[in-house]
Amino acid sequence: MPLSTFHSFLHNLHPKQFFLFLSPGGFAEPAVPKPELIFTPLSESHVQAAVICSKELDIHMRVRSGGHDFEGVSYVSIIESPFIVLDLTNLRSISVNINDDSAWVQVGATLGELYYRIAEKSKVHGFPAGIWPTVGVGGHITGGGYGILLRKYGLAADNVIDAHIVDVHGRVLDRAAMGEDLFWAIRGGGGGSFGVILSWKIKLVAVPETVTVFSVTKTLDTKLLYRWQQVADKLDENLLTRVLMRVTNTSERIVTTTYDGYFLGGADRLVQVMQESFPELGLTRKDYSETSWIQSNLFAYPLPLNTSLEFLLLRNTPSTSFEGKADFVREPIPEFALEELRKRISEEDDPLIIWTAYGRMMNRIPEYETPFPHRKGTMYKSHYFTNWPKGDKNVATHMSWIRSLYNYMTPYVSKFPRGAYVNYRDLDLGINKKDNTSVIQASVWGVKYFKGNFQRLVKVKTEVDPENFFRHEQSIPPLVLKR
Ligand SMILES: Cc1cc2nc3c(=O)[nH]c(=O)nc-3n(C[C@H](O)[C@H](O)[C@H](O)COP(=O)(O)OP(=O)(O)OC[C@H]3O[C@@H](n4cnc5c(N)ncnc54)[C@H](O)[C@@H]3O)c2cc1C
Repeated sequence: MPLSTFHSFLHNLHPKQFFLFLSPGGFAEPAVPKPELIFTPLSESHVQAAVICSKELDIHMRVRSGGHDFEGVSYVSIIESPFIVLDLTNLRSISVNINDDSAWVQVGATLGELYYRIAEKSKVHGFPAGIWPTVGVGGHITGGGYGILLRKYGLAADNVIDAHIVDVHGRVLDRAAMGEDLFWAIRGGGGGSFGVILSWKIKLVAVPETVTVFSVTKTLDTKLLYRWQQVADKLDENLLTRVLMRVTNTSERIVTTTYDGYFLGGADRLVQVMQESFPELGLTRKDYSETSWIQSNLFAYPLPLNTSLEFLLLRNTPSTSFEGKADFVREPIPEFALEELRKRISEEDDPLIIWTAYGRMMNRIPEYETPFPHRKGTMYKSHYFTNWPKGDKNVATHMSWIRSLYNYMTPYVSKFPRGAYVNYRDLDLGINKKDNTSVIQASVWGVKYFKGNFQRLVKVKTEVDPENFFRHEQSIPPLVLKR
């Protein structure tokens, strides 16, 4: 493996302009396969050089922006070794143009940085992306990207106007140059399959100066939870609600539900909306707090409303280990199944189930508009988590708990196919084989993530990267591998 050649090749192209790290802290666990090299470009031309060199030297490359992939496919390869990582963390400039409601953002920027830079320029502009501030803009938008503006404006990927991408030949292409098929594929078809996105041009959306939030925690009441399922996707489009289920860390192991809400408007109007649509939750004016849109993102994280906005600029990553899975729910889950769900939650050390309401704009955007298909008729997304501290000896028990819960939920969630969210990557759904990636095998997980859009993604992949240079455990395969 001529890695030394790669090293000197890059040195010759860009002397003293790249960083080289070997086995940094993120790869501390002995069982985790280590990259031979992590290349952190300082300019976009370095990305072109990395693609050209890796291809020429036949070195397998992983692409990482914020590093939040649920299965770590941006920096760990379990199917192929040796490999290198192209880490885009230094490409993080953000240029906000309030005059035409747009911004160019490089992929190494985090969502927190993006929100902060938008808020610096305007209190009445926002962007409909995720809640967690350290998530990278690069990977996030390639998989869809949802947050508290979901019901009003859709996903982050629904609000992209242009992009710059380095293709497999090392060329930088904008929307016009890449064509509408590739531009379609990169907005929801999952990262690491089509090229290296350098930056996105995004459409900023209107938010009011006052946003109202609430968060109430109650012991899980199956009747109330059932009622939430009936109303959540039909509420006013300015209101997004979620339910977070956890277990108290006491000997009683009580399962609680936190109902939280984000309303684009003032508290007086929210009182009316909730009174008309969901009085069973029993909220009154004193449960509501008025704040700004940017601060409401921190509240969703969750942090107190007086948290400094500088928090959004921190680039620390989650420090616990976790496993996550997702479902889309189209019919209310009956009360007896909610009772069983409660029992199962109480049996795990540190579980978290999050239900996020869909409806409104998510119903209006057609299923084929972008690769993300879980739109009309989805009432809410259900997200299952189990967390454990690093070094925990019971990982197998945690994995078995979440797999068993996922199996239990089968009759109550979307079917034919059972939907999954590519941004919550789940290798339990299936893994590509090295050098033998068959479309039929990949369609097992591909159809869950993309439904009928999977075939079009394969077509685009076959056109732009027939030799499958950009690949990982769940990348889109070309129809026939040309090598
Ligand atoms: C703690 C946490 C909170 C989260 N919260 C939310 C949320 O609120 N809403 C939501 O929708 N999702 C959320 N996610 C999921 C998140 O959106 C995805 O994991 C997303 O892919 C992360 O992007 P990244 O750049 O940080 O990750 P990375 O690990 O860097 O990349 C993810 C994938 O995209 C590819 N990729 C990365 N950069 C590029 C690029 N420049 N060009 C091409 N491919 C690229 C990678 O190869 C990999 O396949 C969360 C994840 C975590 C861990």
